[in-house]
Amino acid sequence: MNKPATKKSPARKKPVSHKKYVFAFGKKTDGNATMRELLGGKGANLAEMASIGLPVPAGFTISTEVCTYYYEHQKGYPRALGKSVDEAIKQIESQLSKRFGARSNPLLVSVRSGARDSMPGMMDTILNLGLNDETVEGLAEISGNPRFAWDCYRRFIQMYGGVVMGVSARHEEEADPFHLILEKMKHTLKLQLDNELSTEQLKTLVKQYKALIRKRTRSAFPQDVMQQLWGAVSAVFGSWKNERAILYRQQYGIPAEWGTAVTVQAMVFGNAGDDSATGVAFTRDPANGEKVFYGEYLINAQGEDVVAGLRTPHAISAMAKEMPSSFRNLEKVRSKLEKHFKDMQDFEFTIEHGRLFILQTRNGKRTGLAAVRIAVEMQQERLMSQETALLKIPAESIDSLLVPVFDPKALRAATLIGHGLPAGPGGATGHIAFTAASAELETRKGNKVVLCRTETSPDDLKGMLHSQGILTSRGGVSSHAALVARQLGKVCICGAGEININYEKKTLTAGKYVLNEGDYISIDGSTGRIYKGMIESTDSEVKRVLDGNLKPAKSYTYQLFQTVMQWADKHRRLKVRTNADTPAMARQAVAFGAEGIGLCRTEHMFFEGDRIDYMRQMILAVDEVQRRSALKKLLPFQKKDFVGLFKAMNGQPVTIRLLDPPLHEFLPHDDVVRRQLAEKLGVPLDFVIDRIKALHEENPMLGCRGCRLGILHPEITEMQTRAIFEAAAQVIKGKKGIKVIPEIMIPLVGFREELADQLRIVHRVAKEVKKKRKVHIPYLVGTMIEVPRAAITADEIAKEAQFFSFGTNDLTQTTLGLSRDDMGLFYEEYQRKEIYNKNPFASLDQTGVGKLIELAVERGRATKPDLKLGICGEHAGDPSSIDFCHRAGLDYVSCSPPRVPIARLAAAQAALRNK
Ligand code: PEP
Ligand code: MG
Repeated sequence: MNKPATKKSPARKKPVSHKKYVFAFGKKTDGNATMRELLGGKGANLAEMASIGLPVPAGFTISTEVCTYYYEHQKGYPRALGKSVDEAIKQIESQLSKRFGARSNPLLVSVRSGARDSMPGMMDTILNLGLNDETVEGLAEISGNPRFAWDCYRRFIQMYGGVVMGVSARHEEEADPFHLILEKMKHTLKLQLDNELSTEQLKTLVKQYKALIRKRTRSAFPQDVMQQLWGAVSAVFGSWKNERAILYRQQYGIPAEWGTAVTVQAMVFGNAGDDSATGVAFTRDPANGEKVFYGEYLINAQGEDVVAGLRTPHAISAMAKEMPSSFRNLEKVRSKLEKHFKDMQDFEFTIEHGRLFILQTRNGKRTGLAAVRIAVEMQQERLMSQETALLKIPAESIDSLLVPVFDPKALRAATLIGHGLPAGPGGATGHIAFTAASAELETRKGNKVVLCRTETSPDDLKGMLHSQGILTSRGGVSSHAALVARQLGKVCICGAGEININYEKKTLTAGKYVLNEGDYISIDGSTGRIYKGMIESTDSEVKRVLDGNLKPAKSYTYQLFQTVMQWADKHRRLKVRTNADTPAMARQAVAFGAEGIGLCRTEHMFFEGDRIDYMRQMILAVDEVQRRSALKKLLPFQKKDFVGLFKAMNGQPVTIRLLDPPLHEFLPHDDVVRRQLAEKLGVPLDFVIDRIKALHEENPMLGCRGCRLGILHPEITEMQTRAIFEAAAQVIKGKKGIKVIPEIMIPLVGFREELADQLRIVHRVAKEVKKKRKVHIPYLVGTMIEVPRAAITADEIAKEAQFFSFGTNDLTQTTLGLSRDDMGLFYEEYQRKEIYNKNPFASLDQTGVGKLIELAVERGRATKPDLKLGICGEHAGDPSSIDFCHRAGLDYVSCSPPRVPIARLAAAQAALRNK
């Protein structure tokens, strides 16, 4: 326990800080909703709610700066903190006329975490703090309900014991030890529900809990309420660095430096009797976005009962009958919250003896589909502008409108085995995994899994990340499983009470069906239906409309998609192109809105059918004559492919990159294929083996690849250029007279002379073909910028190039000195230590690689102001990297076809954010 010193210590004469660390809310409120950085989302919104007159129990928030201090000072606190907390406690005491630690009318508090962005369930919470052997008697007297008081006490010991004192399950398949004691007692007494335990039985439970703590920790459960408070505060700050919080931060790119705030708030009791309740509500449906009041509650229960999913709560609509006046109040709060916060809210409430309190509110986590629907409908309801609506949709969300759903035919033939609550839409099929560890193991083997658990806890996060979908037999729509699945965009069904999961036997029983671990199961998170076996998937509604197989008027999802895309196109400045090597890919990308091809990797065209043999013949050639003979065979294939691409792009620009990869990628590595190749080429096997040996490189990624190939073998560049211009001539002169604008791109350039060398060939061949075919073909020549030297000497290189395309896969590799194929060994450790916030090959390292890009933009444009600039590395489909590209002044991003819609939205958001 790390209580800060409140008295001056002569040994450590640090200047007294006058910084404010503690912010009250209640009658007197210090903060507001804009102070998320300092107060965390929870603390800031509590302050805001208090100031607009919503019924919020009084409390205070310890700022995130204290969290930073805590980690920078070996888990110590600023000296002024102790006094401020004492004063803040006094303020709550005087508002409620209760005393913290006093036997008569004791004040109890909750201690909760609250990061700038909510991280649901990832950090720790303690409720009912302030109870001890004395105050529990006081609470019994003042409430006139000893059963309630002892129930609170046993809950507190369980929570505090687990969170602060570390008494919890020791491995995944062990139950929580407190829970075991409780279950054992209920079993012995033949009781079904926790609330059937009598006061005396609860007292026995408290004794047993305390004994468990003493046995496991060799220390007593603390009776001093201030010691309890500081223990809880330290535990919450400590939980910022627990494993699941770190994993969560990586998933969502939350920086470790942000830290969490700690909110201490007076307890109100949903378990004070049958006129009391607690619940969680969403102002709209977070699974599909529909405008309905959504949520659930439990009568005579505390908040953790709802979120933990141990008891299946009632739907909020049932409250209209069960507690009509509270329901009316709740409806008013729902509308006030949406109007004030201008977004879908997820709020927690407690009703204590019929009186409603709001304990927290935040922008509700939602599925991708719900994010789109809520934004579009809120804009239509004039709750937000088009710009705000666009910014509210996480760009990745668009993907969930495009992912496959179950094939209706296959669905009709499938065996339905049960139902649950639909909590994350879409269809998921996979092998059953009962633990997070087995889910991870199976997926590493390349299998798809559905994680099936009675309920999930934050420790299951890793397993959830690996699964196609999540199925739980207990818990409601705001249980941990539902909450996290929604956010991860995973298919999810929860609270499927008809199924029974037995971890020991590793079975899932649904009526007469018994499924074992590893068996196939399919879940439809849009309907809540669970099926035995595997079900085929089919295209999403959006895809079917785009392909002409469904009428737009028949699909509301498509209409939402279309609305968002139109808005996005109106606001974005960046063009969106695609990386495509085949006409089919190009057509898909165009349907998704691509405005050109930003990268055609010509080497991908050589893998099909006979071409690979000619390619191999070309690589193995010992001299130019042999090489030219092989290239001659490749030329018609290349030309045909380019014709297909040009036609598919129908006049949009097409950037074609000349051969780039290390040649060994094309050569056979196993003996059988080598033998077959020798036979096909009519050469001895030894010749093939010797040539492969001769071409061996220690480090092919940094060897004879990129423009070095074309410089070494100019005939390759010549053949590729000829194929491009022959194809362009054919399409331009074809019946439809399609416009063609090839953009020829030279890879891995680091010296101006390299580019000049290759462009001499390109211009010569272009001239020859144009003359021969008697056709005008406008074209551009440019280079990839993918080694640091190219970025640094961009002013020189721009003298030759009409465009630059940043190859950030290689640029990251060469700048970080980190092989894009070999980071497996240490990557996890780097993530765990938060050295990398995000994978630098997925999300641009803006502070490092980004600086080189900025430099190249500046120097390139200094030489040639109209230099066209794009990016074609994987980062071009990543929203935060797209934001960077916008700020850096690029003209376009080029990503894989399925990411084109995401890039369109992300580009619009970048424009709006950086206005
Ligand atoms: C790049 O390096 O970013 C790039 C697009 O090229 P490739 O991935 O083919 O090396
Ligand atoms: Mg590259």
